[in-house]
Amino acid sequence: MSDFSSLGLSDWLIQQCKQMGINKPTPVQENCLPAILQGRDCMGCAKTGSGKTAAFVLPVLQKLSEDPYGIFCLVLTPTRELAYQIAEQFRVLGKPLALRDCIIVGGMDMVTQALELSKKPHIVVATPGRLADHIRSSNTFNMKQIRFLILDEADRLLEQGCTDFTKDLEVILSVVPAKRQTLLFSATLTDTLQELKSIAMNKPFFWESKSEVRTVEELDQRYILTPEKVKDAYLVHLIQKFQDEHEDWSIIIFTNTCKNCQILMMMLREFDFPAVSLHSMMKQKQRFANLAKFKSGVFKILIATDVAARGLDIPTVQVVINHNTPGLPKIYIHRVGRTARAGRHGVSLTLVTQYDIHLVQAIEGQIQAKLQEYSVEESEVLKILTQVNVTRRECEIKLESTDFDEKKEINKRKAMILEGKDPDLEQKRREELEKIRNKRKKFKQRIHESIQKKQDAIKRKPQKKKRLLQEEGSSHQSHETGE
Ligand code: AMP
Repeated sequence: MSDFSSLGLSDWLIQQCKQMGINKPTPVQENCLPAILQGRDCMGCAKTGSGKTAAFVLPVLQKLSEDPYGIFCLVLTPTRELAYQIAEQFRVLGKPLALRDCIIVGGMDMVTQALELSKKPHIVVATPGRLADHIRSSNTFNMKQIRFLILDEADRLLEQGCTDFTKDLEVILSVVPAKRQTLLFSATLTDTLQELKSIAMNKPFFWESKSEVRTVEELDQRYILTPEKVKDAYLVHLIQKFQDEHEDWSIIIFTNTCKNCQILMMMLREFDFPAVSLHSMMKQKQRFANLAKFKSGVFKILIATDVAARGLDIPTVQVVINHNTPGLPKIYIHRVGRTARAGRHGVSLTLVTQYDIHLVQAIEGQIQAKLQEYSVEESEVLKILTQVNVTRRECEIKLESTDFDEKKEINKRKAMILEGKDPDLEQKRREELEKIRNKRKKFKQRIHESIQKKQDAIKRKPQKKKRLLQEEGSSHQSHETGE
């Protein structure tokens, strides 16, 4: 394995790495760093926790030190927490440069951000929505000179998932210069490869981790087969077990909805577990505060939706529990990547109901490894089943009384207004669409039924013919016999 200096990294950066405990390059760094230093565009596909961030932070800092100006580099990333994490790595590694960075994410004051942007920071780390808002509404800064454009978790930025970034990206790409170095990094690049290639146009250097298995070897991947109604009892049992055996372990529990996230947090607290939650319906300040409480170890359990699935680097997470089986293998990979980071060991446990078995098979196909069953004393789980389910129901009632659903609706409406849409009009449109869909469904059903009828008639025809022939035959016979 080569060392940082043979990759072309300057001594001052090597020293900074050493201070952080980074002594040898990881494979993604070893491969991508020289290409980036040579000025090439780069697409890096590497496992989570493999040192992707430093693979772009180090060469950017080196180039910045040779020609410092602002705004030198723009990093786009899908979540606010990731933006802070990336900015932190820039700050720590770039300390000798007196680096000025600026974080542009939603949920924070726009005026303060606009002021910071106007001061020409060296590095801007942003989520696409908020940066696009600034570009649309302000002329106090420009991105015409940027040397580096970096898309972290690039595939998520380009796919049209629950948050669609494509329009915001268009706005951003229209104000950055065509002559630039573009770096794209993600753990999973395949689905959006073509679109990515159109962003990194200068024959990008492409590097993909050789290992076929997309999750690290240090990760012990397990599953528990459970009926839906017993899931929560398993969860409480598992947490109790981990807390008894390893008091200092930190656990992340992933679940599918904000509401479930909040209910599980309340429920675990009822059982005296030190739990905090992280989901997109929380205020930004609360999100940071909760994450900080978890990172510092004050709270050992974090219950999160997939906002926390990507890239979050919390070194001491020993267990990831999937309260629901992720519908996409890619999401599974990101979730379990929160543990077993940078060579450490970790365990992932996925709660699987009988309806999720095909999802597990899809996951196994993608990671090219089999999940092993995790054995649990079922009798212990059954002992707490009623208590857990009653507690959950109580928490649900408590949450209902706090207008959680109403707040969700208000948040949705707010987001629409910010996007320039009229929420009432959108609602009408959705209803119209639903009507059209229903009509289409009925139409399809009718066609299906009539095809089915015709097919049945065709099937019946030979039988009818046979019967007629038989009848004809028998009447013929009776004629002959004179009956
Ligand atoms: P990332 O994949 O960028 O989220 O990085 C995961 C963790 O690995 C971070 O805590 C980094 O500080 C750490 N890290 C990055 N590069 C190295 C390296 N060469 N050796 C050891 N740890 C590293």
